[in-house]
Amino acid sequence: MSTLHPKLADVRDTIHRRNPGEAEFHQAVDEVLLSLTPMIERHPDYVEDSLIERFCEPERQIIFRVPWVDDNGCVQVNRGFRVEFNSALGPYKGGLRFHPSVYLGIVKFLGFEQILKNSLSGMPIGAGKGGSDFDPKGRSEGEIMRFCQSFMTELYRHLGEYTDVPAGDIGVGGREVGFLFGQYKRITNRYEAGVLTGKGLAWGGARARTEATGYGTVYFVEHMLAEQGRNLEGLDVVVSGAGNVALYAAQKVTQLGGRVVAMSDSGGYLVDTDGIDVAAMIGLKEKRRGRISEYADTHGGRHVSGGSIWEVPCTVALPCATQNELDAEGAHHLARNGCQVVAEGANMPATPEAVEVLREAGVAFAPGKAANAGGVAVSALEMQQNATRDSWSFDHTDARLREIMAGIHRTCVDTAEAYDVPGDLVTGANIGGFLRVADAMNAQGVI
Ligand code: GLU
Repeated sequence: MSTLHPKLADVRDTIHRRNPGEAEFHQAVDEVLLSLTPMIERHPDYVEDSLIERFCEPERQIIFRVPWVDDNGCVQVNRGFRVEFNSALGPYKGGLRFHPSVYLGIVKFLGFEQILKNSLSGMPIGAGKGGSDFDPKGRSEGEIMRFCQSFMTELYRHLGEYTDVPAGDIGVGGREVGFLFGQYKRITNRYEAGVLTGKGLAWGGARARTEATGYGTVYFVEHMLAEQGRNLEGLDVVVSGAGNVALYAAQKVTQLGGRVVAMSDSGGYLVDTDGIDVAAMIGLKEKRRGRISEYADTHGGRHVSGGSIWEVPCTVALPCATQNELDAEGAHHLARNGCQVVAEGANMPATPEAVEVLREAGVAFAPGKAANAGGVAVSALEMQQNATRDSWSFDHTDARLREIMAGIHRTCVDTAEAYDVPGDLVTGANIGGFLRVADAMNAQGVI
C-alpha cells in the first residue's frame, strides 16, 4: 500500500477540516487522494494552482426545505440536497437518492465519485448528486407524488439541460422521475426533455436505461474474466441488493451462462444453489414491490434473515446494494471461499479495509466508479437522443453501452500499467478519470 504524497496530505487535512462529520465524503476523498500519489510524482504541475483542492471542493451546494402533506393531512418536513460538484466536462450529472440515511456527507461522497465515473465514461457530462432524507418505504403513491412535486418546486431553479441534469438513484425510479419531470414542466412551461434522465419511453426516455447499470457492471466483469482467460459460463455469482442495479446485473449474468446463487434486501438474503429464477425475482421486486423472503415461498431456495450474504460461496461477487455493505469480514469470507472477482455495482459498497483484504488475497477488484458507470453513460445517451429528438433501438443503445464499458475497462487497465501497478483497477480508475477532468479544468482557467 502506497503512502500519501505530502501535498495530497495537505489537501486531505483541508477537506476534513472544512467538512466535519462527513465520514463517507472523507472516505471517498482519502481513497482517491491515496491513489493519485504516483501521478503527482510524475505530474507535479497538477498540484499547482490548488487544482486538487478545487477538485475536492464542490462548485455549489444547495440545501432546502421540502414541506409536504401526508395522507392524514399532517404537514411533514424533509431536507433536500443538490451538490453541483464539477462542471469541467459538461452539465452537472448524477442521480437523486431518497433514503432516511441521506445527509450532506452522503450526497457529497456520491457527487465526488460521480466526477471520476462520468469522466471515465468518456461522455460530455460533469458531476452532481442530490436527494433527500425522505423515506419512501410505506408511503402511498399520492404521498410520493406530493413529495416529488414539493422537492422539484425548489430544485427546478437550479436545473436545465445545459446546467444540471438529475436522474434516479436509491429510492428514485421511473415513477419518481415522472412526478419530478411533470412538476418541472408545469413550473417552467417548457418540454425540456433533457433536464432529467431515466424517463419513461413514451416521453423521452432511452431504451436500455433501466438495465444499463446492472448490464454495464456485468460487461465490465466479462472483461475482467477475459484478462484471466475465461468467461461467466457456469460460474456461481452472488449479487447483493434487489433494486434496479442488482436485478439487471442478475439478469445479464444468467443471459451469459452464469448462475446467480444469492441476492438480498434489507430483510435478509436468499440462497438458491440451483440458480435464482431472475425473471421471477424481477416480477416480485419490480412489479409487485414485494420482499425477497416471499420468493422462497413460491420458488424455493432458503431465506436467511440476519447473517451475511458474503458467506455464500461464489466465484464472482457483485455488491449492488449500498455503500460500505462489504466489510473486511465479508471480504475474508469471499476470499476464503474461492471468490476470484469482485465488481462494485453500487457506489462504494466495499470498505477500504475490505478492498485491502481482497487485494492481499489476490482477488480481482473493480471500483464502482468504473464498473457501474453504465447507468450514467446511458443517461448521457438519453440526453443525446433528447437533443436530436431521436429514439434509438434497444440493441443500438446496448451496443453503445458495451463499447463504453470496454473503453472504461481499457482506460483502467492501461492507466494502471502506465503507472507501474498492473491490474490495480482502483488506481487505474482514479488516475484515468482524474486526468481528463484535470486537463479540462486547466484549460478553462482558474475555475
Ligand atoms: N445514480 C446513478 C449513478 O450512481 C445514475 C446517475 C445518472 O444517470 O445520472 O451513477
